[in-house]
Amino acid sequence: MREVYLDNAATMTKIPEAIKVEAEFYELVNANPLRGLYKKSVQAETEVEVCRKKLLKLARADESYTVIFTRGTTEALNLVASGLLRGSDGFGVVSKNSRVVVDIESHHSNILPFKQRYKNVIIAKKMDARELFAAEVISLTGVSNVTGKDFTKRIKKVRKMCPKAILGVDMAQMLCHTSVDLKALKIDFMAFSGHKFGAPMGIGGLVIKKELAEKLRPLFYGGEMVEAVSPEGKPSLAEIPERLEAGTLNIGGIYGLSRAVDFWLSRDILKEALKVSKMKEMAKKRLLKVPGVKVLASNGPILTFQMKDVHPHDVAQVLADSGISVRAGYLCAEPFLRYKGWGPVVRVSFSIFNNLEDVSRLVEAVSSVREKMGVKNVR
Ligand code: PMP
Repeated sequence: MREVYLDNAATMTKIPEAIKVEAEFYELVNANPLRGLYKKSVQAETEVEVCRKKLLKLARADESYTVIFTRGTTEALNLVASGLLRGSDGFGVVSKNSRVVVDIESHHSNILPFKQRYKNVIIAKKMDARELFAAEVISLTGVSNVTGKDFTKRIKKVRKMCPKAILGVDMAQMLCHTSVDLKALKIDFMAFSGHKFGAPMGIGGLVIKKELAEKLRPLFYGGEMVEAVSPEGKPSLAEIPERLEAGTLNIGGIYGLSRAVDFWLSRDILKEALKVSKMKEMAKKRLLKVPGVKVLASNGPILTFQMKDVHPHDVAQVLADSGISVRAGYLCAEPFLRYKGWGPVVRVSFSIFNNLEDVSRLVEAVSSVREKMGVKNVR
């Protein structure tokens, strides 16, 4: 039985070339990029810089931005939350008591990095003037991992309402899934994960205004981020971006990321997204006819539903037994699911690598859930 993978919002099916170049890096190059005087090290370093440039192009960011590599969105948002806090080391721009606003649709990765470090974090539900009042840092969801909703308009509105706040966006579900234009959004930073758009896991980053990156405290200290270290006194730290990238980078991942970015740069992202969304619409239309299915949200590649009298985990288990991989539960967005009064859900998320046969397999498997769970069919 062929497995049907419909959990692309958790991690997208990999672009074959992206994982091939990752493996090839280790086979053919395998050098640590910084400070290497030999050819392969220079080659690796060149790829790192080329990848930064490609990412800026992908996000339509001008030279006022730079790229900091991290393991992904979660680490990038922790770097921002920690780095912005003013300290006696001269880094940071806000205090623990500063007002930080995140949106209710946020993934836990956009809530907890701030909640753990700041005393005044507002989880905004309306994003109105009252909630945004005196906000010094605002970190918003680009595209919801629960509903697939695209918040581009909201981000632009918030920028207008709060021209002075530090404004960032969690683009884990956004980059390569819709059109991204940092110049138009006028944001200060965005966080992304390569694995959400076909690159390997363990590589992602922060695209951030250079001026702001200069002020960020490093999250990690160690090799590669320092110019000079003496037993006494303070080390002299490297310039950005290296200052914020302590330790050996995931270069294999960067090779893969670079190739995944090439893939998306060579395509019309909106057209690809439309194709995926049409496939999901087809699934929605057919699922709505299955007794007991209640569709809660359906936008872009994502469809979220519940089935009457069957717990989402049981739905996902029956689907798994039929070779269909979907996600169930709170989707790392518990405040939002509770706020909506939904509780746990089942999420199906498509990618460009799915096809209509996958839709049929999904519908067939969902249709069998109630009977397999011994629940009577109701309309
Ligand atoms: N934000 C959103 C909206 C996400 O969907 C995810 C991944 N589920 C993350 C942040 C965290 O991404 P990562 O685990 O790659 O750091």
